[in-house]
Amino acid sequence: MCLFCKIVNKEIPANIIAENDDFLAFHDINPKAPIHILAIPKKHVDSFIEVSPTTMAGMTSFIQEVAKEVKIEKSGYRIITNIGENGGQEVKHLHFHILGGTKLAWGHFSDADPKNNL
Ligand code: AMP
Repeated sequence: MCLFCKIVNKEIPANIIAENDDFLAFHDINPKAPIHILAIPKKHVDSFIEVSPTTMAGMTSFIQEVAKEVKIEKSGYRIITNIGENGGQEVKHLHFHILGGTKLAWGHFSDADPKNNL
């Protein structure tokens, strides 16, 4: 069972913010912004590559609710999902990073000069 499935099953503790039948949101253990939350589907999906439009529709509403819950819906935030090797995905269970609580630079996560990649 993967790490995030264990969190869903409450076998590993997490600082949970919101939960419904299909989705779970919890604080990232290694935050990269003042607010750094992970939103996941409870049913295991490896990554965005396999996710269904139905799950994504539910995820959209869920993320909007989480943003309201932590009061960043007006100040703004960023959603990121890393996909596979080149995307830098470490945990192979679909998750959306919700980052906020400060004005994020566009290069907040950049570790390479984009000019070198064009
Ligand atoms: P990614 O690189 O997109 O796969 O992101 C995985 C994220 O999961 C990282 O930001 C980690 O800090 C976070 N993470 C790993 N283990 C845990 C955990 N037990 N609880 C909360 N967040 C975690």
